[in-house]
Amino acid sequence: MSIDNVRMCVDKISSDSYIIKDESGARAISVAEKRWQNGQTLRIRFLNGTPDVQERVKQFAVQWTSYANLKFQFVSSGPADIRIEFANDNPPQSFSKVGTDALSVQDQNEATMHYGWLFSNTSDEEYSRTVLHEFGHVMGLVHEHQNPAGGIKWNKPAVYAWCRRTQGWDEAQTDANFFGNYNNTITNYTQFDPNSIMLYSFPAELTLNGYSTTQSPVLSETDKAFVAGQYPFAANP
Ligand SMILES: [Zn+2]
Repeated sequence: MSIDNVRMCVDKISSDSYIIKDESGARAISVAEKRWQNGQTLRIRFLNGTPDVQERVKQFAVQWTSYANLKFQFVSSGPADIRIEFANDNPPQSFSKVGTDALSVQDQNEATMHYGWLFSNTSDEEYSRTVLHEFGHVMGLVHEHQNPAGGIKWNKPAVYAWCRRTQGWDEAQTDANFFGNYNNTITNYTQFDPNSIMLYSFPAELTLNGYSTTQSPVLSETDKAFVAGQYPFAANP
């Protein structure tokens, strides 16, 4: 992948006290306080999009419900917890509210999830990678590279330049979206998982030790096990 051919997900976690500035990098995590009730049915409605793109989003999204005890009910009208919009963004961006933060969006015509690069002619692999990632945010998962446990040694000037070039972000936006780490008092996090659906692709030019990542198009075993622990199917005694 070209260093400039990047598609960024800007997660919409409500910031207040949830993100702390830190030099350290990456591991996989969720935000404990934003969990849905175990077994809950989430109502999901599309705000736009053709039937074929809607169907492909559904097809991949429901994979999460094989591992997490949540149900997705796609509705065509009425109130919905998750509201999805499609757009053609330049630069391409997607986002989703994290977990129950979706409920903080009061306007039922306002999206809680946004896809900026999914079209009728987009590949299945790209749908899989993008939809599973955004619905990972619905599960309450956040970006691996912002885990408080730390990890990747960033070449910060290179990251600033890259985010400016590919996303149009100034340093403050890059600080918030890229270097901001989650406060470890409000997160559950697991060991670093380089195969997580929640890890971006990063070229080695952005790190000080030649470390690079690729973003998997499928859920990792850790992703599956983690949400199974968050939303267990086993009945409570
Ligand atoms: Zn994301």
